[in-house]
Amino acid sequence: MFDLHVDANRWRAHLDHVTQTRPGLVPVIKGNGYGFGRDLLCTEATRTGADLVAVGTYGEVDAALSAFGGDVMVLTPWRPFLEVIDDPRVVHTVGRVEDVAEIAQRSPGARVVVEGETSMSRHGLDRHELAAAVAALGDLVVEGFAIHLPLAGQSVRGQAPDANLAEAQSWAGALLASQLDTTTLFVSHLTASEAAALAATRPQLTVRPRVGTALWLGDLGALSVRSTVLDRHTVARGERVGYRQRAMPRDGVLLVVAGGTSHGVGLEAPRAGGGVVQRGKTLAKGGLEAAGLSLSPFTIGGRQRWFAEPPHMQVSLVFLPADVPAPEVGDEVDVAVRFTTTTFDRVELD
Ligand SMILES: *Cc1c(COP(=O)(O)O)cnc(C)c1O
Repeated sequence: MFDLHVDANRWRAHLDHVTQTRPGLVPVIKGNGYGFGRDLLCTEATRTGADLVAVGTYGEVDAALSAFGGDVMVLTPWRPFLEVIDDPRVVHTVGRVEDVAEIAQRSPGARVVVEGETSMSRHGLDRHELAAAVAALGDLVVEGFAIHLPLAGQSVRGQAPDANLAEAQSWAGALLASQLDTTTLFVSHLTASEAAALAATRPQLTVRPRVGTALWLGDLGALSVRSTVLDRHTVARGERVGYRQRAMPRDGVLLVVAGGTSHGVGLEAPRAGGGVVQRGKTLAKGGLEAAGLSLSPFTIGGRQRWFAEPPHMQVSLVFLPADVPAPEVGDEVDVAVRFTTTTFDRVELD
């Protein structure tokens, strides 16, 4: 089993803390649900009292409408090649003048958020297009204006120039100067203090941060990922194993552990435990990387261990040198994962 264990009390205390310290929070619930699954996050958003959640795509809307009782904003902008989901709880994002005109014609009365194009250069209107967008709105109901800022612009403990805050301030000015009939500004990737600074200087606006990672994955200490040892075999140096019949570099134990490519386990471990120094030591000791092995995300005896070969669909083969006590079949080992690209067999709230 390749499982996510959640210390539910600790995790929920973190979610409550973020909810209380980030006024107007809009929980973002998209993709693989940050590893938890989107339905579970919808349940938690309900528990924290959210009135609105944001999903990534139109394909995620129906499930969110079932699992969450409030409004559902779609982050991917609406395009004419999409159907308009005519549900009064759905809030669309529009970011091109022609899309505004088209959705206004097809679905008058639909609720929309108008997006501005930031330095992200992903989606949204140029500020010079705002007037044209306003003219195209027809009977659409404008729920707010939205900006999505780069991760690189966030201030790091006050030392970096506050690029995101400056850009948000500038858009806040553009919104107030525009004819858009809304005072709600949705922001993505402003820190809590940046959002507070923005709200303080623009008391006419309601600033609503859209937050995913810092909410769901903001207290990693509440989460642990564990993989079950499914099999183990003593191997001798030079013995060939696996699909690729690779020769083992030393005497040791071959562990077959739960978790493979179908779970999102890749050949690149997310973090080399201990950093460069430990990697150097490991190399000096075993020369396993020189032997063509890659560092796995599986930690045994306090260290990330080497893949014996690239991960299989549902399991991985990990080489353990003979001097390390090997876990038993049925034992669990820790795994370092990137939560947004991992699919777990089970998510357990302990
Ligand atoms: C994904 C996304 C977010 C949330 O991003 P996190 O880094 O997970 O907080 C916010 N806004 C938009 C537009 C997004 O696409």
